[in-house]
Amino acid sequence: MNYQLILDELFPPIKNAAIIGEVASYIPELAHVRPEKFGVHLCCLQGGDYFIGDHSERFSIQSISKVLSLAMAFKIEGESIWKRVGVEPSGNPFNSLIQLEYENGKPRNPLINSGALVICDILISHLDNPLEELLSFIRKISGQSSITINEKVAASEKAFGHRNAALINLMKSFGNIENDIDQVLDFYFYQCAIEMSCLELARTMLLFSNRGKILSSGEEMLTSSQTKRLNAIMQSCGFYDEAGEFTYRVGLPGKSGVGGGIVAIHPGEYSVAVWSPPLNPKGNSARGMRFLEDLTTKTGLSIF
Ligand code: GLU
Repeated sequence: MNYQLILDELFPPIKNAAIIGEVASYIPELAHVRPEKFGVHLCCLQGGDYFIGDHSERFSIQSISKVLSLAMAFKIEGESIWKRVGVEPSGNPFNSLIQLEYENGKPRNPLINSGALVICDILISHLDNPLEELLSFIRKISGQSSITINEKVAASEKAFGHRNAALINLMKSFGNIENDIDQVLDFYFYQCAIEMSCLELARTMLLFSNRGKILSSGEEMLTSSQTKRLNAIMQSCGFYDEAGEFTYRVGLPGKSGVGGGIVAIHPGEYSVAVWSPPLNPKGNSARGMRFLEDLTTKTGLSIF
């Protein structure tokens, strides 16, 4: 498969089409990003990096970080994390409070905000410095030691994080948060403010194509069973209340973030990261969705 040829063919028509969607502005710092930014990076398990556009520019990974903190918590604590957070698609917006109230403070899944907050709480209970540990985990998997936080984005999210504060307070009232609320929120805001490029994200997510092993060293970070389960959660819950649509159109597990990034994984084949900041009404990168749909259509490869 000549991936570079495919990227070169699919990218320009999407880049040249009128931009649809809106750059996220509910976290004010995110609104400063230029809407025309667009990049793609694909890493093949058989070796080879293929890329186009703004693939090496860092952006705010936002909710994509939830997969990485979940991987750490699952590695540390195993199956018992599912006592506190489910594995069902929510069918609701990522920051919805309604379902959480009638389901007694147990989030539907770890990739919506409430679920990710529970995962942060679990990591705080296990680790002295969870943020540093999370960064080390990502730096090790990606092989990029300079990956770090954008402090301005973290501060901006904290200043406007009232809905996340509401979610965590509600869960605390149901006894599903062990640690201090502000400590958990801070860790959550910082993890969402990690910045990575498409290149760095694709390299990191290659772990999930490779049964949990780092490709360059062969080191096992997750078992193949854990990796299977995490891919399954991404497939059913990775795209807010548009997970079914993404599965239908793209046919791969993945995760999006409101910074306009999307990662998708073809187990045994490749990982791919796309970045384009304008979001569709469900909060997923509009161009990113279209590009990935065209990619799996053109290659004829998906997990289905
Ligand atoms: N930090 C964002 C929030 O909590 C993450 C949202 C997202 O990317 O889905 O609202």
